[in-house]
Order: sequence, then C-alpha cells, then structure tokens
Amino acid sequence: MIKELKIRVLPKQASSEYNIIQAVSQEYAIDLSSIKAIRVLKRSIDARQRQVMINMQLKVYINEIPTDDEYIHTYYDDVSDKSPVIIVGAGPAGLFAALRLIELGRRPIIIERGKNVHERRKDIARISREQIVNSESNYSFGEGGAGAFSDGKLYTRSKKRGSVDRILNIFCQHGADTSILADAHPHIGTDKLPVVIENIRKQIEKSGGEIHFETRMDKLLIKNDEIIGVETQNGKEFHAPVILATGHSARDVYYHLYESGIELESKGFAVGVRLEHPQHLIDQLQYHNPKGRGEYLPAAEYSFVAQVNGRGVYSFCMCPGGFVVPAASGPNQIVVNGMSPSNRGSVWANSGMVVEIRPEDIDQYSRYGVLSGIKFQEELEYQCYVNGNCKQTAPAQRMTDFVNKKVSFDLPKSSYTPGVISSPLHFWMPEFITSRLREGFSYFGKISKGFLTREALMIGVETRTSSPVRIPRYKGNMQHVRIKGLYPCGEGAGYAGGIVSAAIDGERCAEAAAQYM
Ligand code: FAD
Repeated sequence: MIKELKIRVLPKQASSEYNIIQAVSQEYAIDLSSIKAIRVLKRSIDARQRQVMINMQLKVYINEIPTDDEYIHTYYDDVSDKSPVIIVGAGPAGLFAALRLIELGRRPIIIERGKNVHERRKDIARISREQIVNSESNYSFGEGGAGAFSDGKLYTRSKKRGSVDRILNIFCQHGADTSILADAHPHIGTDKLPVVIENIRKQIEKSGGEIHFETRMDKLLIKNDEIIGVETQNGKEFHAPVILATGHSARDVYYHLYESGIELESKGFAVGVRLEHPQHLIDQLQYHNPKGRGEYLPAAEYSFVAQVNGRGVYSFCMCPGGFVVPAASGPNQIVVNGMSPSNRGSVWANSGMVVEIRPEDIDQYSRYGVLSGIKFQEELEYQCYVNGNCKQTAPAQRMTDFVNKKVSFDLPKSSYTPGVISSPLHFWMPEFITSRLREGFSYFGKISKGFLTREALMIGVETRTSSPVRIPRYKGNMQHVRIKGLYPCGEGAGYAGGIVSAAIDGERCAEAAAQYM
C-alpha cells in the first residue's frame, strides 16, 4: 500500500531516511518494519518560532517496494531531418527552447558566442587570478548562460506551477538531484549545475540538434519585415526563424536592434550592491539561536523588502554559504553577483541589495532614449571599476560605515577572490540609490536585530538584476511586434527573470516558433 502522509518534525528527525521512517511510524502508529521506503514530495523549513520545525509531505510505501519513477520523463526523438529553428544564446531560455523544439519535431540550431561550460570555467578562473575579463567567455556568456556558475536557485515567483514542475523534472532527467522536486526553495549549486547543462547539450546533439560555440550573432537578416536568419561574426549565415535569447548582458545585441530600427521599450530594473555577512550570524538571526544552525539545518536564507520614498528596496538572489563573484562581461567594468556550491558550505552569506529604478529616475540619460537604462548601468559599472583601482578589485565598505556616511578604515574578510578595497560607496554612488539603501538597511536592522552590523560588507556594484530594455512581442504568437519569425525570448527580452522563468519562456517561444512556417 502507498499512502501520502504529512509530518512536522524536529530537524534531527528529518536528517535521514531512517529517522523520517521512525517519525512516521510513531506519528501514524504504523509498524516500523512494514515501512519499506519513503519519498519526500514536499519539504519546507518553518523557522518562525524559536524551535525550528521541518514540514514534510511524504509518499510512504507500506509492505511495498517503490517501482514508480522519481520524476516524469520527457522523450526526445531524432529531428535531424526536420526543418530548423535558430536559437541565439545557450542560456536556460535557449537550452529549454531547444529541448522543447525537439519534442515538437523541429531541429534546433543554437548559436552561442561563448565557450562550452567546461572551457568557460578556465576563463572565469582567470578573472580572479589575472584580473582579465574575456568579453566572450565570462560569468554571463557561454554555455548555460548567466546562471551556469551560480547558486542554481530554482524558485520563481511564477504562478504557473505546472510549467515550473515540468522544468524541474527536465532538470532531474539531465542529472539534477530529485530533492529539487520536493524542496520549497530548491537549488542545484555551482559544482553540479554545469554537469546538468552538459547533459542537456548532449541530449540536443543526440537528437540531431546543432550547437555552435564561439559563434556570435552580429546581425539579424530581415527582408520585408520578416526574419530570414542571422549572420555571425565571421560572415556565416544561418537561415530559419529566430528565437533571440541573448540575455540582458549582451548590450551589443540591443545596440544592433536599435540601429536596425527594431522596436524596443525601456522598462524598470534595479541597481545596488552585494552585501556579505558571516553565515554564522545569519544562522543565529534566522534560526533564533545564538549557537547558529547546529548539525541538522542548512545555511539560513533571508529575504527583505521595504518601500522607501516610493521605490522598492530589496534583497535579491540571496546565496547562503556562498561567494561573491566578479560578473563583469567586458573590460573596464565591475559587476558583482553571487554563487554557492550545492552544500552551501562557505562561511559567508551574500545577497544583492538593490533599489528599484524606473525610467523617469534617470532623466539625465534621456538623450539615449530607450537605451537610457543601459547607459546608466554602463556608467555606474565604469565608476565602480575606477573606484576599484581599474582592476577587478571591488570597492567595498562596512555596512554600518555606509549608513553613517563614514569611510571604512579596515574591511572584514570577504569571499570575493579578486580582492576588495575600502571605498566611500555613500559618496560616489548616485544619491537616489544610496539614500534609499541607507533607509532600507536601517529598517532591516530594526526588524532583524543584528542584521545591520559592522561585520557586514557592501561590495559594489550589482547592476545586472534584470533588463532595462524590453524587446516587445505579441502575447498570442510571441513574435516581435513587427518582425515576423523573430521571437524575443527570456531575460534579455524583458520577459523573464531567473533560471526557471527563463526556461519556461524558452519553452513558450519554442511552441510558438514550431508553428511558424
Ligand atoms: P542568459 O542566461 O543571459 O543567456 C544568454 C546567452 O546568450 C549567453 O550564454 C550568451 O553568451 C549568449 N549570447 C549573448 N549574445 C549573443 C550573441 N550575439 N550571439 C550568440 N550568443 C549570444 N537566477 C536564478 O534563478 N537563480 C540563481 O541562483 C541565479 N544566480 C545567478 C548568479 C550569477 C553569477 C548570475 C550572473 C546570474 C544568476 N541568476 C540566477 C540569473 C539567471 O542566470 C538569469 O536570469 C538567466 O540565466 C537568464 O536566462 P536567459 O537564457 O534569458 O539569458
């Protein structure tokens, strides 16, 4: 017999399959020896009270051995003789578009400016070691896209539960741990995600799809408002409808679209800093325990949000037990972001702390029209680079010094490997951002006593939270509002934010493109 049961247990009782079986046996008076296996269907941590509890929904196999699959399989046929669709960009949007096209009997041809995920790792290491950023292979560009070396958080605010579950199942089919199907806040980790990405690529190739690395799309080929294909940096042409999934760091793509007269729109985005605390301190605060998280709980997360003078100030992409990383995509810029290994085992907790920006907040850039947000980001990243000594060393300030507008005379240790240097962020970052961050931090420090601390380090600047530009498309057929056969897709098109939502958008664009003849 298989039963679905719920239990609420102490962290230790949830720490192994045997402990969970014991807890089920006691709670539901089921003979211990009759429980042959359990599967965790849902798991969440309830840290609202002093005693942290784990809530679980379980499938309990009583006198029965599991024979059902742990995840739903998707089948991919051979599409090598089918008509092609071009996908520009091998981020989550592009890769999931390719898999979906195969399911629908179309042949994906992926064009990716960066290297494969294995080679890319070497360029990422060089950023810290030699302070060199390769403009074609970095934290943003290359196989797997911007999230390949990340925390691999897979939660999203998307309400489309069915689509989210589908994406998570496909991740499992390609090697992700099935715990992502159960956890309330699933994540894969930077040590494991690249392997999953490689497996997705192997599946695409096995089914007859193509992937061309180190191949940059430089031009969209358009005739009579209809897409013909793309031209690459070495003049090679590919002809087919195009799913454009180039992410929000490919500024050259936006410039190309703008210069070609292709309609774009400006949109809101967010800018700020990375904030790094000792993980132990976050564990103490979030688990209400001076001893920290103890033996059985994971590194604690947090999420804060406030409204300050009409704009949101919020934590973004929090990485427990992680590292702050140099995420610039070209020379003369500093951009920071965060990642964590699967065990979230580092001694630091970091998160973006950003302020919402609307197009009207950056009026002084209005001469750049729809590209004003990009120009604003570029200038801030350049200023950060100058204040970081014109290297990848990042300007940084103690959190309390920032709030009190003081220079930090020394800095706490940081996970940011290119190095940090003391800098008055309150002085050179735009005032409409720093004033809101200051108020936001004071508020967060009030609702979570100890969060506002001199042990926390602010590292500049976090600018790539979402795209400041939208490439408008029709809701129904997903095509660009004028150019037929062009499917703006994922985060760069302004229709997604995060790995899972980009993947969902990739699937939707593939479904629309598969119907286009
Ligand atoms: P991208 O992932 O940006 O992919 C675009 C791809 O297009 C890139 O591979 C790029 O090389 C390629 N490309 C660009 N221009 C061209 C061109 N002209 N020709 C050919 N190819 C081109 N999100 C989460 O949900 N969870 C996380 O934990 C998380 N952590 C992150 C950590 C870091 C360090 C970073 C940088 C981002 C993180 N994100 C995270 C955000 C997430 O990665 C993005 O939201 C997501 O990758 C967007 O997917 P996308 O496919 O739309 O675009």
